[in-house]
Amino acid sequence: MTRFEEIVELERRSLLETYNRYPVALARGKGVFLFDLDGRRYLDFVAGLGVNAVGHAHPRIVKTIRDQAAKLIHVSNLYYHEYQGRLAEKLCGLSGLQRVFFSNSGTEAIEGSIKLARLAGHRIGGEAKCQLVALEGSYHGRTFGAMSLTGQDKYRKGFEPLLEAVKFVPRNEVQALHAAVDDNTAAIVLEPIFGEGGIHECSPEFLRQSRAAADRHRAALIFDEIQCGLGRTGTIFAFQSFGVTPDIVVIAKPIAAGLPLGAFLAREEFASAIAIGQHGTTFGGGPLACRVALEYLAIVEEEKLLENVSRVGAYLEQGLKQIAERYAAAKEVRGRGLILGLQLEVPARPLVEQALARGLLFNSTQDTVLRFLPPFLLEEKHVDTGIRVLKKLLGKKRRGS
Ligand SMILES: *Cc1c(COP(=O)(O)O)cnc(C)c1O
Repeated sequence: MTRFEEIVELERRSLLETYNRYPVALARGKGVFLFDLDGRRYLDFVAGLGVNAVGHAHPRIVKTIRDQAAKLIHVSNLYYHEYQGRLAEKLCGLSGLQRVFFSNSGTEAIEGSIKLARLAGHRIGGEAKCQLVALEGSYHGRTFGAMSLTGQDKYRKGFEPLLEAVKFVPRNEVQALHAAVDDNTAAIVLEPIFGEGGIHECSPEFLRQSRAAADRHRAALIFDEIQCGLGRTGTIFAFQSFGVTPDIVVIAKPIAAGLPLGAFLAREEFASAIAIGQHGTTFGGGPLACRVALEYLAIVEEEKLLENVSRVGAYLEQGLKQIAERYAAAKEVRGRGLILGLQLEVPARPLVEQALARGLLFNSTQDTVLRFLPPFLLEEKHVDTGIRVLKKLLGKKRRGS
């Protein structure tokens, strides 16, 4: 058996069977590249599902982790440390929101945000103000609360009963939204850009109407920016790209450069609904994760990565659009910045596997969507490589192209 086969066999024997992995074992990374056990190099358009925004083994991240790990990794939330407040203040400054709670993952941050919205709702409208409105086709995570907000059967099936009191409306259908929101609505929860759902954007008008409906009925407008936030759209928060400010924004994936950290940020009016003891976590907001997150934000700023996201994102989008025009198997490009989807007319997974064999990591979602969430460090020459391989794999051109 090769070392790779040994790894696969070990997992096959002892792991809960929940993942359908691609046939590669990764050993190390550098910038936008990953290397497998045999030292084979892969150009990374996935970035650990949008987590490795500053690439792999960024020298400043490595140094920060080394330094902090030698000092203090964890203290629990019984005590103060230097970095949680500093990170919260930084995030408040960047978002214009006022208070932060740190969790270990995106799902947990979603969970906390709906707990907060329920408290705020009950304070305004009593027990009846508990309803949640979410979007069909959305994805918010795997715990019962987050799963209950997820508008896709494949994630919900078999786990019922879920949270009651969740109403789903189709994305960008303003009338359905207004019909669903009333005085008993505690929160409207949405991803400004659907991630798992296949890279679909909410229209600015739909977001404005969501803002108006939340205001009219004193509900919390919650944006799940776990995938699209923290720089991926070219602004530090996705809502800044759309011009609509939520009451609560949920972030996670890239925040601590691969260490587990999530957070929700809330306006004071909602944040003040919670009291000491009503929410908490053992691990969330530890000194190592928070210090690394501060470093992440500093790198994005100092290396001017948002400008790179906008420029290289536009370049990638243009390349993909050309593919959608010329190749029969490709249909449409969606998204912005470095959160892009190529809608195919054929299953995406075989393409992803063929790309892997050629040294490129792509990702698929919703069976027929190729999803691109590359590191913010991506350069035009990397895009050229990706597009060239994609063209080869897609093969047949449209007639006349
Ligand atoms: C990944 C993701 C989540 C869940 O986050 P985890 O860290 O996997 O718990 C929730 N919402 C969106 C939009 C995501 O992309």
